Amino acid sequence: MSHPRVVVVGGGLAGLTAALEAGDAGAQVTLLERSPRLGGATHSFRRGALEVDNGQHVFLRCCTAYRGLLRRLGVESDTVLQDRLDVPVVTGSGQTARLRRGALPAPLHLARALAGYRLLSPRDRSHAVRAALALGRLRTDDPDVDAVSFGTWLAAHGQSPAAVERLWELVTVATLNARAADASLALAATVVQRGLLAERGAADLGYATVPLSRLHGEPAARALAALGADVRCGVKVSAVRPDGDGGFTVLAGSRTGDAAFPADAVVLAVPSDAVAGLMPAGALAAPAAPAALGSAPIVNVHVVYDRPVTTSPFLAAVESPVQWVFDRTAAAGLDSGQYLALSVSAADADIGRPTADLLAQYLPAMHALVPGTRTAEVTEAFVTREPAATFRQAPGTLQLRPGPRTRLPGLALAGAWTRTDWPATMEGAVRSGRAAARAALQDARPPALLGAPG
Ligand SMILES: Cc1cc2nc3c(=O)[nH]c(=O)nc-3n(C[C@H](O)[C@H](O)[C@H](O)COP(=O)(O)OP(=O)(O)OC[C@H]3O[C@@H](n4cnc5c(N)ncnc54)[C@H](O)[C@@H]3O)c2cc1C
Repeated sequence: MSHPRVVVVGGGLAGLTAALEAGDAGAQVTLLERSPRLGGATHSFRRGALEVDNGQHVFLRCCTAYRGLLRRLGVESDTVLQDRLDVPVVTGSGQTARLRRGALPAPLHLARALAGYRLLSPRDRSHAVRAALALGRLRTDDPDVDAVSFGTWLAAHGQSPAAVERLWELVTVATLNARAADASLALAATVVQRGLLAERGAADLGYATVPLSRLHGEPAARALAALGADVRCGVKVSAVRPDGDGGFTVLAGSRTGDAAFPADAVVLAVPSDAVAGLMPAGALAAPAAPAALGSAPIVNVHVVYDRPVTTSPFLAAVESPVQWVFDRTAAAGLDSGQYLALSVSAADADIGRPTADLLAQYLPAMHALVPGTRTAEVTEAFVTREPAATFRQAPGTLQLRPGPRTRLPGLALAGAWTRTDWPATMEGAVRSGRAAARAALQDARPPALLGAPG
């Protein structure tokens, strides 16, 4: 069988990567996505004159698999990646500082960055360096480490409440979508090890200069078409059935009716709460585990001002309801005024609040962070809500994340929530897609004639 039929379910970054990986390896690929568009949790939509992202996304230089996907799609030039991590930080009372890494090799670059971070006292800075080095020594695959809350660990390692809020949560709330008290120590240590300690450039920050659908979904559709893949949006899969001969039948429905897709291998790249319902009985060793991961929300407040209010492409806020602010004016296609996206992770308190309430809190909060907003007029403001932006990256989640292989050879799992050794990020999604496609193709019966994965 030189061209195994691979059906990929889910068109987020994990599914797109799996489909490309399988297509590049010579498989005949069908991708089925429930929603009308590809990109999953990373997409954009039109609202009047604006092309709006469902939520601001950033990546780091250490996100090598994700950056590989950008290259594969030919869109790396539609992103910027800092030469050197440099984050302007503003407090809710208007104090400013910068987190700028040094040019020295890791981990000395970190000491230089902290030495210049004047929002921390000298005591907090030196204790922070010690804590970072201690985090570097933790085993992130150890369930005992994962069982501990990052907040508890920080307190036990001499980190003051100010250091937690002004430094540690700056790094981990956005990457883990959880406050320190609610986050897994193992996942926090992963962020510090990969982003801060591995190489001096690892945490250099990157983001898209075009809307997310133009960065991911649309170029992926073109790349898959070039591989001859059959990509269908608006198709909801209801079950994957073993066909009794080592293959599978994927049952799906759409507005035009029901369909069955025969497959030699299947990659299920759907969110964690959807996976068990689609799997054949007995395929998952712990069928309740994925749904037990739960989910955590992210809210974005989008504000258009009638004039430019800042020259900074982005900034981070501490001791403010605002966490990160990104200038999306050019990316969204706005040619006058300025469009800022305010990103709020771990947004449990905000996800259910009415838009008017959120705007009444967030718009005045911007006055301290970006003084130019005090005199500018808000011409448009709205909110996007993602109730299940990531899985809840709490203590004890390591054991709930299955790897790519199921008990049925040829049926593999992908998704940022699977066991990727990364937090729930675009990087994790891409890694999972790659691993799942390779596992599915290796295990497909009869064996696929595709050579060993690289
Ligand atoms: C607002 C927001 C901000 C974020 N910020 C960042 C960030 O700054 N940096 C970062 O790295 N990560 C960030 N993330 C997380 C990142 O976007 C996700 O981890 C990643 O995109 C998940 O990809 P995935 O393919 O695993 O899942 P998803 O993107 O959720 O894809 C799953 C797909 O499966 C489809 N599906 C579900 N059920 C079915 C079915 N029955 N049949 C067919 N299709 C189905 C869904 O429609 C969906 O398209 C953010 C997420 C959000 C929402």
